[in-house]
Amino acid sequence: MNATEAINPASTDKSTADSSGSMITSQGLTKHYGKFIAVSDITFSVPQGEVVAFLGPNGAGKSTTMKMLTGFLAPTRGHASIGGFDVFENRQEAAQILGYLPENGPLYMEMTPKSLLHYCARLRGLSKEFTATRIEYVVDRCSLGTVWEKPIGKLSKGFRQRVGMAQAILHDPAVLILDEPTSGLDPNQTHQVRDLIRSLAKSKTILLSTHILSEVQAMCGRIILVNNGRVILDGPVSALSEDIAGMEKRFQELTA
Ligand code: ADP
Repeated sequence: MNATEAINPASTDKSTADSSGSMITSQGLTKHYGKFIAVSDITFSVPQGEVVAFLGPNGAGKSTTMKMLTGFLAPTRGHASIGGFDVFENRQEAAQILGYLPENGPLYMEMTPKSLLHYCARLRGLSKEFTATRIEYVVDRCSLGTVWEKPIGKLSKGFRQRVGMAQAILHDPAVLILDEPTSGLDPNQTHQVRDLIRSLAKSKTILLSTHILSEVQAMCGRIILVNNGRVILDGPVSALSEDIAGMEKRFQELTA
């Protein structure tokens, strides 16, 4: 079996979508920090196989929403589910089918990519054989060969981001939530990560946050635009505009 054939049954099991067919569900998610409302009543669902851009200016509430969707932050109100599993009530089931790239990448600065990915595989209970084939795959797809045994804390932002991507896709999850996946990458690395996301999009449901409009056009079919913690547009990319210049103008008008 080669690396790309190592499939986690959870990633291809269509029965994991909820009864409405949604793989990612945000139901009235709201987050207050004291009197400040960071996220207010965000509701949307992402059906199986869709690649959705979670778009908005800095401070719009994208990361906060993603942290609640992935079960890393408790909402003030509302619910989040992945593949029909509530991320707090059915945490383990949701985590099995979810890969998450947090905004600041992997935090274990003293570990190496090798030790981190083996550690993640053990935490997830992956078999030795599956771990070996998946590690071969992620090292290749995320180009980690040259930094494999270097401490993550010594790596550039671009390499750290790719270690984060490797950790997110290691268990071959059906759903990916990626917080600014190309942040800090140079143009070549950006190209490589976009290619990776496009190839993952063939078999996975993806929600990715960004404020880069060319990224939206290159990778996504649908936009959920947030501003001041609220959804202000949800529709096909063409709902913003057909071309980048038009998209930028409309984005500015809507988020000014
Ligand atoms: P984005 O990801 O769209 O840039 P964030 O979700 O990071 O936005 O932040 C949304 C808003 O919530 C911002 O105004 C941010 O300063 C605020 N915020 C985020 N985390 C906290 C926190 N722990 N305490 C107080 N305010 C926060």
